[in-house]
Amino acid sequence: MSARRVPDDVTFEHVPETDQSFENALAKARAGDRLTVADGVELLTTGTDHAGIDLRRKERVLEAADRRRADVVGDDVTFVANLNNNVTTACNTGCLFCNFKDTAHQFERGEGDHAGFTKPPEESRRIVETTLDRGISEVCSVSGLHPAFALDDEHHEILASYDSPAQTVNYKPPARYEVDPGTYLDQMRAMSVGGVHLHSMTPEEAYHARRGTDWSYESVYRRLRDAGLDSAPGTAAEILVDEVRDVICPGKIDTQGWVDAMEGAVAAGLDVTATIMYGHVENEMHRVMHLDVVRDLQDRTGGITEFVPLSFVHQNTPLYRRGIVDGGASDDEDELMIAVSRLYLDNVDNVQSSWVKYGNAKALKLLNCGANDLMGTILSEEITKRAGGEYGEFRSVADYIDMVSAIGRPLVERSTDYRTRHRVDPDDPPFGPHLGPRADGTPLLDRPRRGVAADDD
Ligand code: SF4
Repeated sequence: MSARRVPDDVTFEHVPETDQSFENALAKARAGDRLTVADGVELLTTGTDHAGIDLRRKERVLEAADRRRADVVGDDVTFVANLNNNVTTACNTGCLFCNFKDTAHQFERGEGDHAGFTKPPEESRRIVETTLDRGISEVCSVSGLHPAFALDDEHHEILASYDSPAQTVNYKPPARYEVDPGTYLDQMRAMSVGGVHLHSMTPEEAYHARRGTDWSYESVYRRLRDAGLDSAPGTAAEILVDEVRDVICPGKIDTQGWVDAMEGAVAAGLDVTATIMYGHVENEMHRVMHLDVVRDLQDRTGGITEFVPLSFVHQNTPLYRRGIVDGGASDDEDELMIAVSRLYLDNVDNVQSSWVKYGNAKALKLLNCGANDLMGTILSEEITKRAGGEYGEFRSVADYIDMVSAIGRPLVERSTDYRTRHRVDPDDPPFGPHLGPRADGTPLLDRPRRGVAADDD
């Protein structure tokens, strides 16, 4: 098993020890039997009977996962033509793995310059409108938890009625800030234009949109859906084991809160995704316990369209700067995380390989370890760029053809929910998206530009 650094004052209850054997676990995986947590740990560690990763055993796990991927979804490699439009970097939550946020007080009037941004709803709308012309089909929006963000005017009133609302419910009125982010419903209406698919409102954002009230997640997601939301990203999951969350994101909702929010989103009629962010302080037992939470949620809801493993990008994060971690996951760990995700999540069809987190070469390798989706074009990617990721920014459809041709697999443009697909013919240029409401196959950046925002390229 691999060693992970654990903060000096922390002792984890859950450790990667089992009474299962690697060979038994692999036999079950190959037979398509449902895996237990112990099975998953044996596969992820390549056996708890020895230290470190056994490379020959690893190859057998990857092979089983690759075969399962072919059985479940075939050889197609999918991607979505999308735009990232994150609304604000203002956040006080203080997650130790995050360098996306900027402490929210810097955004207040008279505080001077800072590196962050807040986009009012009209700016979000302008960015989406202009990017729709380029052919995108999805807007993905994940933002910091700005203290002036509320679901709607009624929510503003409720939050303002608290004594010391900044301390009790993380609320300050919009007038305190240089730029008003508007309400969550305003932002949904602004970004849901022209038939684009709006993918937004993580469980943590949904919590923020109901803080200080007794509103259910389902009712909040219903109102967001009525304002234009189409599906919700299951980020903010990190590791769904509270003893890990207590170390890396003590200000966030706990595991049950994340599950409750996801169930509320599905009950409101939305598709959801699920993620794991691994490679920091957690161990293999935590990772498999996380997979178990996701599989259980999917058994109950059936709403998860894809699972997205995200390897922790350590540079520029408090976890790294404070010496709590000295790096991220190794290549072997990344490959095994994808493979065991595919084998453990027998009820989730799509496993994503993120070129943003892994870079092109490794992202392609992971398509042979159990993954089948190569995420999106991402016309803007502030989060990874600001956390020191080397692989941020944009991929054109032509880039996708080059990448996927290298591994001899067919390329398919998909809708966010995977229900609509367009097979890309690599011998029939030009290469552009076909599924967006204004897409006609013209390459994304060849479209006429109509005042696209500076961070939109
Ligand atoms: S991960 Fe999200 S909630 Fe946590 S500090 Fe960063 S922006 Fe805020």
